[in-house]
Amino acid sequence: MKDVRIGVVGGSLGGLTAACLLRDAGHDVTVWERSSRQLEQRGAGIGFLEATYRYLVERAQLELADLSVATDHIRYLSRDGSVAHDSTHRYLFSSWNAVYRELLEHWGRDRYVLGHDMTGFADNGDEVRVEFSNGTNADVDLLVCADGVGSTGRRTLQANADQGYAGYVAWRGMVPEGSLAPETAARFTDAITYYVYANSHILVYPIPGLDGSVAEGERLINFVWYRNYAPGGEFDDLMTDINGEKRELSLPPGSVSVRHAEEVRAHAAARLPAPIAELVAATEDLFLQVVYDIEVERMVFGRVCLLGDSAFAVRPHAAAGTAKAAEDGWALAAALTGNSTLDAALAQWEDTQLDLGRRLLERTRHIGQRSQVDNSWKPGDPEFIFGLHEPGN
Ligand SMILES: Cc1cc2nc3c(=O)[nH]c(=O)nc-3n(C[C@H](O)[C@H](O)[C@H](O)COP(=O)(O)OP(=O)(O)OC[C@H]3O[C@@H](n4cnc5c(N)ncnc54)[C@H](O)[C@@H]3O)c2cc1C
Repeated sequence: MKDVRIGVVGGSLGGLTAACLLRDAGHDVTVWERSSRQLEQRGAGIGFLEATYRYLVERAQLELADLSVATDHIRYLSRDGSVAHDSTHRYLFSSWNAVYRELLEHWGRDRYVLGHDMTGFADNGDEVRVEFSNGTNADVDLLVCADGVGSTGRRTLQANADQGYAGYVAWRGMVPEGSLAPETAARFTDAITYYVYANSHILVYPIPGLDGSVAEGERLINFVWYRNYAPGGEFDDLMTDINGEKRELSLPPGSVSVRHAEEVRAHAAARLPAPIAELVAATEDLFLQVVYDIEVERMVFGRVCLLGDSAFAVRPHAAAGTAKAAEDGWALAAALTGNSTLDAALAQWEDTQLDLGRRLLERTRHIGQRSQVDNSWKPGDPEFIFGLHEPGN
């Protein structure tokens, strides 16, 4: 089928990839994004799996080498900074900014409607009226909610969705490679580097610079550091920002309380191998993202569907969140093309994507349990290799 009027709510990587694919398949697509300005995530790194770059390479004809930084080793450090394990494995890394910029460029600005915060919708069986906080509304044949981990779509359709705080957060930061001592920077540019210790692990990898440059000397070194905070008082205290406001999903750069920023730096100096501690110390703006397990029983509700993190938000250990969101978009476009009714297309799509979400959630939960609770992760363990469908794939 063609010419379906489709509204995509949420203009991040999942929403934009789906929108591009649905437009290419002959549908009439509009993207609504709640932010009033073009999105900006200050370049946080992403493991760059095939589904995430597939659109940009196959359809937008971009070169992978211009979008990402490649590494050839998986390396684990010991407490004294020596190499505990080194194996050959190729990964690609990019940044949220670099991918967003290219997807938006390809999508265009005309149908990228900023300042539209969806507050609700009414599905009459044939079409959906989408309502926004600015008082406007729009009618579509299909509403795709790509509104992320805090999804209004999910909260409206499946209020009982499992919103489990995983018991830990990811502290993150990026440092220009040129601002590190040359020998430290050199250690981090050819590998993903891990340090695994009691109930925690940190990983370090190179990503494009804030402007997307992948040239040597202009890249950033990115770290993701998983640390446990007990639910309740300890977590609430952490998530109270510098202005005393309680946050739910993340603490953006500049919002971490002084006490917690100081504790992170002191912990890094005392507990991490020297090169990694140096990296944390050199980070100007620490930020954090909370790790959640979010699971839905269904992804299709009449003429409304949930895509990407708005359906399943999984722990980041497979580096596959954006790949899953993109894969949802590829499968949705194919299902619409391959079926003569919307109901049949959505039923087919839901079947395969529920399965993908469930399997990824289970796998990443298991990895998190082994790392943050059981302490059963030994350097070089193949279960920890990134991949959407399984380790390495
Ligand atoms: C610590 C950490 C590390 C990660 N590392 C990786 C990695 O290495 N590789 C990887 O692939 N993934 C990674 N991820 C996962 C990845 O960030 C997410 O899976 C991905 O961003 C999901 O994309 P999305 O488009 O579904 O949602 P989001 O990127 O969350 O986008 C949702 C969009 O919807 C908008 N929105 C929300 N509500 C509304 C509304 N009511 N109306 C209109 N718009 C709305 C938001 O403003 C936003 O633009 C990581 C996640 C974490 C927490």
